[in-house]
Amino acid sequence: TKGAAMVTAVASRVQAQRKQIDKVLALFQLTREQLEGVQDKMRVELDYGLKRDTHPLATVKMLPTYVRGMPDGTAQVGRLWVCSVLVSPLPPNARTQGPARYMLVDAAPTFSTTEKGKFLALDLGGTNFRVLLVKIRSGWRSVRIYNKIFAIPLEIMQGTGEELFDHIVQCIADFLDYMGLKGAQLPLGFTFSFPCRQASIDKGTLIEWTKGFKATDCEGEDVVDMLREAIKRRNEFDLDIVAVVNDTVGTMMTCGYEDPNCEVGLIAGTGSNMCYMEEMRNIELVEGDEGKMCINTEWGGFGDNGCIDDIRTQYDKEVDEGSLNPGKQRYEKMTSGMYLGEIVRQILIDLTKQGLLFRGQISERLRTRGIFETKFLSQIESDRLALLQVRRILQQLGLDSTCEDSIVVKEVCGAVSRRAAQLYGAGLAAIVEKRREDQGLEHLKITVGVDGTLYKLHPQ
Ligand code: BGC
Ligand code: MG
Repeated sequence: TKGAAMVTAVASRVQAQRKQIDKVLALFQLTREQLEGVQDKMRVELDYGLKRDTHPLATVKMLPTYVRGMPDGTAQVGRLWVCSVLVSPLPPNARTQGPARYMLVDAAPTFSTTEKGKFLALDLGGTNFRVLLVKIRSGWRSVRIYNKIFAIPLEIMQGTGEELFDHIVQCIADFLDYMGLKGAQLPLGFTFSFPCRQASIDKGTLIEWTKGFKATDCEGEDVVDMLREAIKRRNEFDLDIVAVVNDTVGTMMTCGYEDPNCEVGLIAGTGSNMCYMEEMRNIELVEGDEGKMCINTEWGGFGDNGCIDDIRTQYDKEVDEGSLNPGKQRYEKMTSGMYLGEIVRQILIDLTKQGLLFRGQISERLRTRGIFETKFLSQIESDRLALLQVRRILQQLGLDSTCEDSIVVKEVCGAVSRRAAQLYGAGLAAIVEKRREDQGLEHLKITVGVDGTLYKLHPQ
């Protein structure tokens, strides 16, 4: 009977622990009503950002991009098109050849353009900084893309603006050298994945840094000018910077290349953002009522006025407080790759403190910010992964886990990424419903172009 009593005691302790864990996980399980609430609030903020009176204070900035539509074969649009395509991400069928990736576009587009030649492109602001060369022969029958990834050291990301742009130009120089194009004069498209106020397609004033960037003397400056000046300082080649676009815009344009219904671009990557085609008559910030223009919503800032604080957990608040930009980009911090691992880490610390994980021992590693990269999250959540392998990943992170621990860690990861996916869904629902209503349709057919490391790497 003594043994039986002990078994019962252990069983009830396990049960109590399970209850405590479930209580934490439940904070991440949003009800349908809560998600519809997010959709409704997003809708309010979208409208707020579009209106002249409310725009200055809007948390969802709704920035005009001066991209007015998909290509129609005229040279002018073709030029813009070339820039947008060449600055956008490489399709998954791109082949790898040595350090540079090389790609042949299989499907020739259905339109013709007078554009041809060589173009340079930069992609700054995601997981990788890339320089690309795009060679287009007439009629788009053959498009070749070469690209090279460069590292941006932390001290450059968070140094001075001059250092950052000098580094970028150094990478361009290396790339041109590598491609045998030293000193070449080429047109250049710039994908710059941060909020910019634009007055034309080739001007963009950085409003504020997001994600891991914090270089000084850039906010409030035109990033195209900064790049031009850095090129001048180096005095080695001449580049004609023809466009600056957000990564969401590049993604929408690339997808539109295959599907004319594509009028939304979504990034689920290091950061989180969405763009879409809006009626000119609804954009009070830009003159004219004819046609459409792409709006970069910058929805990462959704919630910065506290409107979704009811669904934010203490863990979200801790992640925010430990970030480079406290109080800002609250929706981004609940959804994007740069932060999901951090949320998981905060939960694990709390569960360990409650004695529910890692035998109650908080290791030095667990205390370290940034150890839980998105790729670990994706690995842990992979269905094919046996628990033993989860334990091995945790071990790599310096976390000594039991089998029960690894089950809990996997559950935590699942809860955090499921909530992120549902929040993306609620945000998208807001924009799609708006487009449907604006067009007075019963049923809207629309395609969303999606990219980003989180989207690409996450198993679910
Ligand atoms: C930036 C957006 C960008 C997104 C995805 C956010 O932090 O503010 O401009 O599109 O990240 O890269
Ligand atoms: Mg990217």
